[in-house]
Amino acid sequence: MNMLSYIQPTAHSAWSTYLSQVDRVVPYLGPLARWAETLKRPKRALIVDIPIEMDDGSVRHFEGYRVQHNLSRGPGKGGVRYHPQVTLEEVMALSAWMTVKNAAVNLPYGGAKGGIRVDPKQLSIKELERMTRRYTSEIGIIIGPQQDIPAPDVGTNAQIMAWMMDTYSMNVGATASGVVTGKPVHLGGSLGRVKATGRGVFVTGREAARRLGLNINGARVAVQGFGNVGSAAAELFVQAGATLVAVQDHTGTIANPKGLDLAELMPVVRRDGGVGAFTGGNTGAERIDDEAFWDVDCDILIPAALEGQIDEGRARRIRARLVLEGANGPTLPEADDLLADRGVLVVPDVICNAGGVTVSYFEWVQDFSSFFWTEDEINLRLDKIMVEALRRIWDTADRHQITLRTATFAVACERILMARQERGLYP
Ligand code: GLU
Repeated sequence: MNMLSYIQPTAHSAWSTYLSQVDRVVPYLGPLARWAETLKRPKRALIVDIPIEMDDGSVRHFEGYRVQHNLSRGPGKGGVRYHPQVTLEEVMALSAWMTVKNAAVNLPYGGAKGGIRVDPKQLSIKELERMTRRYTSEIGIIIGPQQDIPAPDVGTNAQIMAWMMDTYSMNVGATASGVVTGKPVHLGGSLGRVKATGRGVFVTGREAARRLGLNINGARVAVQGFGNVGSAAAELFVQAGATLVAVQDHTGTIANPKGLDLAELMPVVRRDGGVGAFTGGNTGAERIDDEAFWDVDCDILIPAALEGQIDEGRARRIRARLVLEGANGPTLPEADDLLADRGVLVVPDVICNAGGVTVSYFEWVQDFSSFFWTEDEINLRLDKIMVEALRRIWDTADRHQITLRTATFAVACERILMARQERGLYP
């Protein structure tokens, strides 16, 4: 981290990727470009120390963050990540992408993100609970149903959201179900939330494929990351007749040109926490080198793991016609240009994976009205919002002859900066 100013990016970091994405959109902002600097600075960043007692009686400290990148359009909104590589700079980038994403689908939210540098798999369930509760208490001074609403991200889940909701509620002395989303369904969670991000990836993929003249029925799909997002997206593509030809996660890479059988794969993933062991025997799957994943012959590639996965070298090798960014920030700027030059269409994270936060918004609305919708209603509304948002982005891309990423930034940043301008500067 730069010691003079925390907004100076480290080379090749997620934050530097985000900043160059902003630079690319500035020429399309017209007079609103006057406010563009707003996008390059988080409004507020909180760093907290999280001391907890471990099961063996020792005390350990973890470093946690909550960054509110922009609050012009409404309260902050965005997930909380538990991962050993979490840094302030990464959380800044993730919070900024939330600002853009929320505006791209026109949700009445700003953008925020949180995280703790920890490997949650190394903690017992009780340690995980203590860490979550202390973190929630520490960031309690800036979160709230009308201030900033956390949700799950990499390494967090509905149980963690339940602890966060309980801790915040105990501190304020009233049940505040709207303080987090992605909660268990009987605690004010929404039906359809768990699979919503994957569903959004599928919906945007379906629309993009239609425009490319690529038939999903029979299309070959490769997925990197088989957590909540990757597995749900894979399932929907397979239901639509696609063939899942390769999957990679932290436990390994498996491939089968004839198609991996999801009904057999899913129990293995649940048992082992990954796809790695699904090879040999009658699985028909072969374990391949991790780097060979990028050479797999496929039509649709879904990076649904972490940032910075597609660099120039990999971008040169990708054989898909369509890349659907289930992850946040998987493609580096130079790789983006290369893919565009090669005619590979990228549906960017800030629209492709917006299904999760869209259903989070539905959850928040349901909590406020204490009136809950059916899963069909939720999926239908999600589909409609994603299709409409993508249509508008596509029109913008066509009008200016720019990539879908820059077009998404153009649509979103216009909304963000318009709000900024209309609200004016205080004092
Ligand atoms: N963590 C998810 C994302 O990156 C969801 C955030 C939310 O639901 O607030 O979009």
